[in-house]
Amino acid sequence: MPSAAIGALAILRQMTAVERTGEYARILAENRRYTDAFDRSALTAMPLSRLAVVACMDARLDVEETLGLRTGDAHIIRNAGGLVTDDVIRSLIVSVELLGTQEIVLIEHTRCGLQDLDEDAFRARVAADSGTDVEGPVVKYGGFTDLEENLRRQIAILRDHPLLGRFAIHGLVFDVSNGGLSELA
Ligand SMILES: [Zn+2]
Repeated sequence: MPSAAIGALAILRQMTAVERTGEYARILAENRRYTDAFDRSALTAMPLSRLAVVACMDARLDVEETLGLRTGDAHIIRNAGGLVTDDVIRSLIVSVELLGTQEIVLIEHTRCGLQDLDEDAFRARVAADSGTDVEGPVVKYGGFTDLEENLRRQIAILRDHPLLGRFAIHGLVFDVSNGGLSELA
């Protein structure tokens, strides 16, 4: 990439950082309001519902609101796609073995950003946006085509896992158009 283009990208990135400052100040102010009303200081680390929820990070899916959970009720583990990655498995083992979780709920959703993602095209875009040709470790982004098939595959990983398979495991699809959940597995 020509250096002028790289320079322009760096300026663009700085501008974005400046725009973010207002939002950052807002969330810190919100937290001061939150602490004034905080009434859950007596909780322990063990989730009261004995539930662990794995879900996509999609901003339209508010796990607590969707499931009627309050602070202290459940472990909520989120990533792009709601995929059962090694790190999700690590967190779930801590959840069940250390903190008493008995049931695992996995939520994926309609119109996910990873649905129909072309991984190679995305990788090329990341390289272009970062303005560097330096090859880092290859990230697998987890793009998929069929939502239900993808969710069933994640559920199968959990049910087949030697340390997690004995717990109750459920697979749900969240519809971003109406907030509804459907049971899939
Ligand atoms: Zn998603």
